[in-house]
Amino acid sequence: MGLLDQLSKTISQVSDRARFEAEKFQKTTRLQGEINELRRQIDQKLIELGQRAYDLQRAGQIHAPTLAELAAALDQLRATLVAREEELKQAQSEVYVEPAPATPSSPPPTVRPVPISEAPPVASGPKTCPKCGFQMPATAIFCPSCGTRVGGP
Ligand SMILES: [Zn+2]
Repeated sequence: MGLLDQLSKTISQVSDRARFEAEKFQKTTRLQGEINELRRQIDQKLIELGQRAYDLQRAGQIHAPTLAELAAALDQLRATLVAREEELKQAQSEVYVEPAPATPSSPPPTVRPVPISEAPPVASGPKTCPKCGFQMPATAIFCPSCGTRVGGP
């Protein structure tokens, strides 16, 4: 085998290797893309499955303690969310009120302190926690403040 033959063989090996690396890169990149897409689809199906399981659990069609636990946790998070949304709405609608200047001619209005038991429910909801007195939406199943069960089946 001559020197030129040796050289051409080496060049051919280098180009084979470059082609191999290029094809390998193309293949792994394509597979990685497919894997990412499959993972995304699996996550999406898991979300749908969770929603379906929640609906079935709430409809009483499946009975599994772990599902009931998850559904209850979800309800509590939603109740807290509704309460926070109401809090936010209230906070956003608050306006600064200038204190009225003291007028000596008219007597100050009599302010009768409202006893706690007569206090009207706040706008966030008509339901009051029997344990801690937290006000929450009527749809709440667990008290967002102390976790006491306040409704539901
Ligand atoms: Zn409570």
